[in-house]
Amino acid sequence: MRDEIQNLLRKIPPMDELLSRPWVNEVEELLGRRALKSVFADVIGELRLALREGTCEAIDVAAIEQEARARLLAKASPSLHPVINATGVVVHTNLGRSVLPQEALDAVRLSSERYSTLEYRLDVGERGERNDHVEWLLSQVTGADAALVVNNNAAAVLLCLAALAKDKESVVSRGELVEIGGSFRIPDVMAFAGTRMVEVGTTNRTHLSDYAKAVTESTALLLKVHPSNYRIVGFHAEVEREALAALAREKELIFLEDLGSGVVADLAASGLGSETTVAQSLMAGVDLVTFSGDKLLGGPQIGVVAGRKQLIDRLRRFPLLRALRVDKMTLAALEAVLRLYLRGQEGTIPTVAMLTLSLDALKRRADVLASMIATRCPEADVDVIPVEDAVGGGAYPEQPLQGWGVALTLPSVSSGTLQRRLRLGEPAVVAAAEKDRVVFHVRTLLEGDAGLLAAALGAQAEGRGSGCGS
Ligand SMILES: *Cc1c(COP(=O)(O)O)cnc(C)c1O
Repeated sequence: MRDEIQNLLRKIPPMDELLSRPWVNEVEELLGRRALKSVFADVIGELRLALREGTCEAIDVAAIEQEARARLLAKASPSLHPVINATGVVVHTNLGRSVLPQEALDAVRLSSERYSTLEYRLDVGERGERNDHVEWLLSQVTGADAALVVNNNAAAVLLCLAALAKDKESVVSRGELVEIGGSFRIPDVMAFAGTRMVEVGTTNRTHLSDYAKAVTESTALLLKVHPSNYRIVGFHAEVEREALAALAREKELIFLEDLGSGVVADLAASGLGSETTVAQSLMAGVDLVTFSGDKLLGGPQIGVVAGRKQLIDRLRRFPLLRALRVDKMTLAALEAVLRLYLRGQEGTIPTVAMLTLSLDALKRRADVLASMIATRCPEADVDVIPVEDAVGGGAYPEQPLQGWGVALTLPSVSSGTLQRRLRLGEPAVVAAAEKDRVVFHVRTLLEGDAGLLAAALGAQAEGRGSGCGS
């Protein structure tokens, strides 16, 4: 047995031999020799282990080369692979949340291909502030006196708590001690910021008197948190912002709200008018509101703190800010997106556009997609069906977002198999499934995606000869 394994191990070609294969030169140009060696070493190492463990019983040199080549080619192309999002989830965190509008892409390029005034004032020839590029725009869009941008909303909440309530108490309703996903948990963030969490009320009901009774000499802050993708229904009570704001004023406390997805545009057209906007929260008396840039705002990944200038100024002076600052590309993209709002052109921001598409428009898109697929892939059984889309990003939980989609089955291919093939295709398509049908939600398709999607299905048909994709 041992001898047999030794024999097999000896059949593995030496590294030099593998490196002298003709195809290797081409890959070496893409990645360099060192990377090449390291991938070969990995593949050989895994093979040796498999031989010793008995999970592999023969050496196939061609297979070794093929495996190494596939891994190398994958490493040579961008790891952030473009994806066609056919899930109908608009703010899909795993798929990169918001797609940026063209203006933002142009701005990113302009900001990075040359030096810029990121932290420089041309008028006086001295150091400037990177936040200055967006503060006025944010104030215009939210109605806030002042605003500060950090790396994401989690950072915004952390900064506010650490700068304004460290070693003091922060009062929060038990109904709002939520976990957002990706391990953002309010109690943990509070602990990390060094503020003492004082929980009030119960999971389903919290009253103004609960807050009032909890306030002591050591209280710094009242915290309100958007419960995001969690909702309490039935016997439920929370305190109005106006009442909490009055309490905060009376007791000289700071009223901070983590609003999460940060609705800025009027989304009433989509039937999604129920979410509190940043401006409404500030109008109701909240001192500081935090929200994400890449959720409903439709911009790059950032977090905003918007609100009273005197408090924002305290945040500006807090040392942690330096560790949370955003890059010039991000600021450039944000600036461009905010200007679209000012000009009343937010309808051209992909996230906003997707959310405000009418049912008629979605139905037309689904019809077009279905006929494209039928042409490219005649074996497919295609149906245009009503579907339920989702806002995503923790906004509007449970609120149905009616949409249209195309359901598809292929002869003798399970929906799971087809989903997998589409994910691994070029371009990659991430689609939903329902019973044993793959479902393409058209809301989240971008211009040109329908054609690509139909072509991806058609390519399977041609490539495999017999049935489409089988
Ligand atoms: C999404 C969300 C966060 C986290 O925001 P990021 O920008 O992802 O860091 C925090 N709080 C609430 C209420 C959220 O919805």
